[in-house]
This record gives sequence, structure tokens and C-alpha cells, in this order.
Amino acid sequence: MNNGKFVLPGDLVGIAEEFLAGDGVYEEGGKLIASVTGVVEIDEKAKRISVRPLAGVPAKIKKGDFVVGRVTDVRESIALVELSRVKPNETREVSNGGMAIIHISNVRKEYVKDMNEEFSPLDIIKARVLDERTLQLSTVGRRLGVIKSICPHCRIPLRRNGDALECPKCKKKFKKKISEDYGTGVL
Ligand SMILES: [Zn+2]
Repeated sequence: MNNGKFVLPGDLVGIAEEFLAGDGVYEEGGKLIASVTGVVEIDEKAKRISVRPLAGVPAKIKKGDFVVGRVTDVRESIALVELSRVKPNETREVSNGGMAIIHISNVRKEYVKDMNEEFSPLDIIKARVLDERTLQLSTVGRRLGVIKSICPHCRIPLRRNGDALECPKCKKKFKKKISEDYGTGVL
């Protein structure tokens, strides 16, 4: 069950046939979607699903930590990442809540020519913290990189197909720096 699960805005938390949309949840085409970053709370009696926004003591990021975030912008040599979470099972918001950066030299072991082939805005990525002060991240490593991505044209989740991602609708392929945990829900 989804109770207690950590979700990001846009994540599916239930279906409208079974539950009502509570706080932090909206309905779209019969689906119940999280509108905030937080933890799923299911009220079985009232048949209502809510998402409790993250609160409490902000987590402090240290070098070597694994973080999850959303790509907000991709430029020639960097990707900007809005951090949402630190480490597995950590549900506190990060202390600065601010912008982290992946430099083109820290994307993968191999040489990267075009940052736009690796990341796109709205991609959810998993990365390791290289520098806690400047919030430099690295996605070098098999389990690091994009863990969730949508087709920019069709707005539906891309599926993994070999070492690329593919849109199930328009069949467009995307190379990207993909985590081997892509699409598994593992963080
Ligand atoms: Zn598509």
C-alpha cells in the first residue's frame, strides 16, 4: 500500500474510484495525483488519501550523501537541480531547499558533448553530493542519473528500452544519463 510512501508532485497516489482526494492531492481523469512533495496518508475509514507536506527539522547535506531532485534547467555545461530529498528513507526537506548543480564533467565517466542529451527539465534524478558548500552533484555511477522522465511532447512517462528511454506513444527515443533504477521506484 502507498501509506507512508514519499511522493513528489505529479506522482500517482490512488484512483478516484476507491478514494477521495484529501489535502495535497488532486483528481485528474480518475487518477489521484500528489500536488506537493510529502508523505502519503491514507484514511481508510473516510476513504481519503492525502499528502502531508514535508516539515520538521531540515536535513543537512554532506559530501557523499545521495540526493534526489528535479532538473529545472539545462544549460551548455550545467544542469540545475532542485533538491527534494536526502538519502533513502529520509523524508525531511533539505536545509537550503535550493539549487544544486551538475557540471558536464560530472555526468558520467565518459566525455559528454551535449548536456541536453543527458538531462531535460522535469527529469527526476538521483545523484551524489561532491561539495556540500556549492552543492555540486555527480551522476557518475550505474545507479545514479535519471530515475523518472516524461516525454516533452506527450507528457507521459518514458519507458526504458535498452540503454535509451522511449516514449510509448510517439516512439521518440532519448539517450540521457539513466540510472539502472530507472522506473523501478527504488531511490
Ligand atoms: Zn511522446
